[in-house]
Amino acid sequence: MSATQSDTSGLAAGPALDASFFAAPFRHPVGSPIRELFPYLSRPGMISFAGGMPDPALFDGDGLQRAQEKAWKNKSACLQYGPTDGLPMLRAALASVMRARGVQCDESGIMVTSGSQQGLDLLLRVMVEPGDVILVEEPAYPATLQAIRLAQARVVSLAVDDDGLDIDALSARLAQWDRTLPEPKALYTVPTFSNPTGLTMSRARRIALLELAVKHRLLLIEDDPYSELRFSGDAVPSLLALSEEVPGSRDWIVHFSSLSKIVAPGMRIGWMLAPTEIMRRCSIARQTVDLCGPGWPQAVATAYLEDDACAAHLPRIIAAYRAKCDALASGLQAALGEQLTFSTPQGGMFLWGRVASGVDAAEVLKAAIEQGVMFVPGSAFYSDKADRSTVRLSFAMPSVEQIGEGVKRLALAVSQMA
Ligand code: PMP
Repeated sequence: MSATQSDTSGLAAGPALDASFFAAPFRHPVGSPIRELFPYLSRPGMISFAGGMPDPALFDGDGLQRAQEKAWKNKSACLQYGPTDGLPMLRAALASVMRARGVQCDESGIMVTSGSQQGLDLLLRVMVEPGDVILVEEPAYPATLQAIRLAQARVVSLAVDDDGLDIDALSARLAQWDRTLPEPKALYTVPTFSNPTGLTMSRARRIALLELAVKHRLLLIEDDPYSELRFSGDAVPSLLALSEEVPGSRDWIVHFSSLSKIVAPGMRIGWMLAPTEIMRRCSIARQTVDLCGPGWPQAVATAYLEDDACAAHLPRIIAAYRAKCDALASGLQAALGEQLTFSTPQGGMFLWGRVASGVDAAEVLKAAIEQGVMFVPGSAFYSDKADRSTVRLSFAMPSVEQIGEGVKRLALAVSQMA
C-alpha cells in the first residue's frame, strides 16, 4: 500500500516519501543519459549509432557452448558460492591474459568483478570521501562520471587532444594546484580507444603520466576494455605494462579490464589489478555487495580462456569492426564532408565528431530520430561546460549495409540544421 492511501487501522496515512528520506547522493539522482535513449531503439527500422554494445552477430555462440559443456563437468564450481575475489582457476586464466598483454602478474594479483563497472564502484567505495577530487579526462565515459558523483567526489576535468590526455597541461595544473580544492586523489583515464573519443594516448604521454603519478602521489585508474580491438596502427602497452619502465609507478595504478567487448557483456566478467592494500579493501567492500560473483559464467569464461577460444575469436571480431569503422568513416566523409569533422579511430567501437560550431547536437538528434537514425550527443560525456556540437557514433552494432543507410539519414538530419 502506498504511503498516501488511507488504511483500515485508523492511523492517519503519512506523507509520501520525499527526497529528504533518501541518502544525499540519491535525493535528486540523474540516470544515465545514454540509457534514456533506449526507448527510441525499438522504433521499427531504427539504425543506431548510439549504444556501445557489441554486435550480437559476432558472439561466439559455438565456442561458448563448448566452454559451457566443459564447465558443467564441474557442477560445484558453477552452482556453489565461490570466493569473493573470483574462482581461482579464472584468476589464473586472466593472469595469463594479462601476461600476454605485457603485465607481470599471477593470479594472486587479480580480482574478478561483475564487469569492470563493479571494480570502479568498489574502488570508489574504499577510497573516496565526500568532497575528494578525482581528475577525469574529458569527454569521459558517463557511467564513470555518474559513479564519481554518487560517491560525492568532485570531478575536475582534464583536456584531451588527438594523442589523448594533454600531459603538459596536467603537469602545469598539478604544479600550481588550486589551493581552494583538496589535492586530487586519483585520475581516471581510458587510454586506449577511449569511450567516447576512440582515441589512444601516445606511449610518450603514458610514460610522462606514470612519472607524474609517482611525483604527485596520484592514483591512476586505467580503464581498459577496448585495447584488444585494434584494427590499424601499432599496439601501445597499457599504463600497467609500462609501469616496469618507471620505478615506483606500479604502486600508483589500478587497472580494470573486461570480457564484455571481446567475448560477451552478458557474462559480466571484469577484473582488476591494484596494489595489495587497495585489493584487500575492495575485496572486503565486495563481501557486502554480492558476497561473490556468479560461479557459472566464471566457470564458462575459464574454460573459454583455457581453450584459447578467445584468441581464436578475436581476429574475427577485429576484422568485422574494422570493416564497420571503415564504412562509417568513409561514408561520413563522402556524405557530410566539412559538415562533420572527426579523427578515424584505430580500434574500439567509437568515432567522435563535431558538427559545425553553433549547431546543437541534441537538435540534430531530434531530426535524426525522425529520419530513423540515432547517436549520442557529446554533451552526455561532459561533467560541465559541454561542447554541444560534438557527437559520439558507435559503429559496433549496425551492419556495414545499415551503416551506409544510417549515414545517409544522418546527412539528411544535419542538412536540416543549416
Ligand atoms: N569502461 C568503459 C570505458 C566502458 O565503455 C564500459 C562499457 N561500456 C565499461 C567500463 C563497463 O564495462 P563492463 O561491461 O565490463 O562493466
